[in-house]
Amino acid sequence: MTAACRLARVPSPRMRIIRTIPELAALHGGVFVPTMGALHDGHFALVREASRLSATLNGSAPVVVSIFVNPTQFNDPADLARYPRTLDKDAAGCAAAGADIIFAPDVQTMYPPGAPIAVPTLPEVATRPGLEDAHRPGHFAGVCQVVRRLFDLVCPAAAVFGEKDWQQLQVLKAMTLQERLSIRIVGAPTVRDDDGLAMSSRNVFLSADERTRALSISRALREASRHSTIAAAEAAMKAGITEQGLLIEYAVIRQAFTLMPLDSGPSPDSPARALIAARCGRVRLIDNAPWPAGN
Ligand code: AMP
Repeated sequence: MTAACRLARVPSPRMRIIRTIPELAALHGGVFVPTMGALHDGHFALVREASRLSATLNGSAPVVVSIFVNPTQFNDPADLARYPRTLDKDAAGCAAAGADIIFAPDVQTMYPPGAPIAVPTLPEVATRPGLEDAHRPGHFAGVCQVVRRLFDLVCPAAAVFGEKDWQQLQVLKAMTLQERLSIRIVGAPTVRDDDGLAMSSRNVFLSADERTRALSISRALREASRHSTIAAAEAAMKAGITEQGLLIEYAVIRQAFTLMPLDSGPSPDSPARALIAARCGRVRLIDNAPWPAGN
């Protein structure tokens, strides 16, 4: 057992669901996990990581999970309308993973009518790479707006985000620095199903056939590591995914933190990341991994 495991707290039997801002006042300084609900084991791993962090900070720092389907980060109204909502199941999983509080505000609480919530200035990693920024216009403005607002309300000491949304993680690290917030941003590894598919709340919309074809994405990330040049790795990723009938938005190797093209190969100071977005039927999937693997 690792030291971190020994420090992990027991599941929280008294977890509460709160919906209003005044109820957050007594909970500042905690470890925060922002989500949109429809939670799966990837999310619960973040909550467990938050619980471990809380134990290392000072055992009484509350673990706060927010569940809010943020309308401002959806660039497709149909995607927003059908986004799964499963609060009871989410609450049971959060309690088992060590959450103390679920903050589940409604839209009026987050965005009070007549009181516009500012969008922070977007860092370059949210606007320049031509990846999620180009394919989901307005998405990072919505993400930064809601996370900044949640940070103001929850006032955490640390916040945990998944590496599954790698560009988002870089954007939020940069935004936190730029806004001079003293919040530690912690990344947690992507949780996958046994067959390699990255867990996602949207996977429930995949048919059995689509789910099988979607495996070409994680396979492509593994395949990329067998190639020693960026061009060969990108070509191999694209071939494997296209062969399965998915529509690629991007399948690239980039500098891991700026997400810009690399001038030369990766180095210990400047690692690289393979990043993929592709549509499988009506489901948009994203995934990423270090390139080459293990870096
Ligand atoms: P979401 O509610 O899906 O927008 O995601 C909430 C948080 O969970 C974000 O920080 C995501 O990066 C993270 N997350 C989603 N899926 C996974 C996964 N499979 N593994 C690890 N973290 C994840």
